[in-house]
Amino acid sequence: MNIKYISFLVVSVLLIMAACKNEPKAASTTTDPAAATSTQPTPVSAPANVTAPPNFTPTTAPAAEPAQNAKGVWHFTCPKGCAGGAGVAGPCGKCGEQLVHNSGYHQ
Ligand SMILES: [Zn+2]
Ligand SMILES: [Zn+2]
Repeated sequence: MNIKYISFLVVSVLLIMAACKNEPKAASTTTDPAAATSTQPTPVSAPANVTAPPNFTPTTAPAAEPAQNAKGVWHFTCPKGCAGGAGVAGPCGKCGEQLVHNSGYHQ
C-alpha cells in the first residue's frame, strides 16, 4: 500500500515539474518583468512601465485600422492598379498580385 502511495506521489511530482518546465517556454523571459510589475497596485510605478506595453501592441494595432481611411483611400492596393484594395497585405482579389502598402492612406 505504501509503495503505491509513494509511486503516486512520484508521478504527481513529475507532472508538476513537467508543467513548470513548459511555462518558461510558452512565455518568454521578457513577459515575466511585465507580469510582475503589472500586479503591483501602487500607481507610483505606473509611469516607469510605460515603455513595456509597446512590445505587445504590434499584433493588435493593424487590425484596429480600417481598410479605407476617411477619404476612401485603401491602406493596401494592387501594384497593377486594380480597383479596390484591402486593410492588410495579401493577394489581390482581381489578379492575385501581392498588395503593396499605400502611403497615401496615412495622408
Ligand atoms: Zn500603413
Ligand atoms: Zn490586381
